[in-house]
Amino acid sequence: MLTSQYTSLWFSRLTAIKRRCVDWLFPQMCLVCHTLSHQSLPICQACTADLPWLHHYCQQCGYPLPDASDHHYCGHCLTHWQPDVRFYGLFSYQSPIRQLLYQLKFQQRLIVAQLLGTLFAKTLLQSYPQPSDYPQLILPIPLHPRRIRQRGYNQALEIAKPISHHLNIPLSYHDCHRRKHTHAQATLPAALRQQNIAHAFQIDPLSVDHVAVIDDIYTTGLTSLTFIQSLRRQGIRQIDLWIAARAL
Ligand SMILES: [Zn+2]
Ligand SMILES: [Zn+2]
Repeated sequence: MLTSQYTSLWFSRLTAIKRRCVDWLFPQMCLVCHTLSHQSLPICQACTADLPWLHHYCQQCGYPLPDASDHHYCGHCLTHWQPDVRFYGLFSYQSPIRQLLYQLKFQQRLIVAQLLGTLFAKTLLQSYPQPSDYPQLILPIPLHPRRIRQRGYNQALEIAKPISHHLNIPLSYHDCHRRKHTHAQATLPAALRQQNIAHAFQIDPLSVDHVAVIDDIYTTGLTSLTFIQSLRRQGIRQIDLWIAARAL
């Protein structure tokens, strides 16, 4: 039994190493249709156009709004308005983004983070009218050290790296800590989710008042909102929430 567990662990590690080698050797292959991408990015033009881009969405929680509407908030956020939070989303959490994020989180395909971060950077460059509107610091939502040891990296930080590079905004990964090893929110019933994430974060004093919080997936929003509350306690005045994939 133990031997078969070790065999399967080694097999999955070898598969991950093989994938990383292929990604490194052939970065121009499209990650979606597996043909040549003919672009500097590892995705072809046709697959880029077919991605589930978020267009018109609630500025607080990212929930899609009808394209024709001139509303800025969904019905829920109109009655739970938080003036200091602004949502910026890239995709809805659908195929093939769902599969790509799975590969990033569980199969060590860091090239997915590079792709998502680069696409996100392009979108953000259009969303902020002036560089003076940029947040002063990017904060990836931290993982617990135990999760980092299992995975090897924080996927939110990996997505943030190309954005930090393209927008020239500093990235911090030493100021925020996850002090509680929480269960994956999606695996818990709604009643236990709040309890699971409460007091999960600790933030060191920050000398900025406008930050961007970045995460890979926004599902119930509880993790992001708990993190935002911790930032508010540190006196952060304005928080932009950058989410790669919004679950609907
Ligand atoms: Zn393609
Ligand atoms: Zn909303």
